[in-house]
Amino acid sequence: MDSDEGTTTPGTEPRRRLLGYGAVSAALVIGAVLILTAGGFRALDVAAYPLPVQRPTTWEEILARPRPVTVAVLLTGTVDGDRRVVLDQSDSNIEALGDPRTPSTVSAYWVHHPSEGDYLIDAGLARAFARDGGNYTGLLRLILALIGAESRSTDGADVASQLRARGVLPRAVFLTHLHGDHTSGLVDLPASVAAVFGRGEAAFMQKAMLGDHLEGKPLYELDFDEAHTLPPFERVLDLLGDGSIWAISTPGHSPNHVSYLVNAQAGPVLITGDACAYHAQFEHRIRPSPGVDDQEAAIRSLAGLRELYDRFPQLQVMVGHEPPRRR
Ligand SMILES: [Zn+2]
Repeated sequence: MDSDEGTTTPGTEPRRRLLGYGAVSAALVIGAVLILTAGGFRALDVAAYPLPVQRPTTWEEILARPRPVTVAVLLTGTVDGDRRVVLDQSDSNIEALGDPRTPSTVSAYWVHHPSEGDYLIDAGLARAFARDGGNYTGLLRLILALIGAESRSTDGADVASQLRARGVLPRAVFLTHLHGDHTSGLVDLPASVAAVFGRGEAAFMQKAMLGDHLEGKPLYELDFDEAHTLPPFERVLDLLGDGSIWAISTPGHSPNHVSYLVNAQAGPVLITGDACAYHAQFEHRIRPSPGVDDQEAAIRSLAGLRELYDRFPQLQVMVGHEPPRRR
């Protein structure tokens, strides 16, 4: 008789994972059917973001000319759950993640420009997560329940409260993508604050899960057809025309996910959004989950962000769901 106690039956993990994906897919289909039978949903009223003239340049030129902008991280809440759900669990580096149950953070970034004003990158979790159970749709709550993820916040942690305490009214929120944990906090901001995202990002399933997060806000799409190629990226936009805030098309996690580079005086900051969720994912190039919108594209986007960092190690990398590391 052999003593195999403590080892798991081979095949149990992949089968459980498959079941997990199956359950999530089933929930998505059921949710989509429910929404359609409820009369469909309104088309979003989205205008093209007025882009300044785009000039060809290089990362070397850009980073040699930092702008007088500052970036501050605003922590809006946390998500309890298994970090591996956003990663490819068959990746040989998955163990580098450490304890997968460490809560994930949900952050927004406040960018202050001395002449152009204040901007946010992502909006984090709404005030409703501090006491009222949040502002996710039933469909999103169902999916999160299936993967065992629970979001929470505390009084005053939402972006609106944090900005008000600083006397700041942002002009716009540049969103990395249209997933609830990045859009939720929009609802607490005044109706004048615009929401900006990549063209094509507002795909059916994305909208189905957002609920009222975009309601009442001026909405703008970034047209990456106007973009220049800035290797390793095919499409990069200078958002304010002075080289201070750059939008980088990094699709995969969602249809047109956007990462941002803020060319700050104190040092350039790369805000990856969910193109890279965790520092260990960035360091060990852990593949994103096959459950993302387009895994191949997501792998290429992550590789691009890594390549940029390898060329310019002075970049401070801010990943999607973990606090920034000290320089
Ligand atoms: Zn996220």
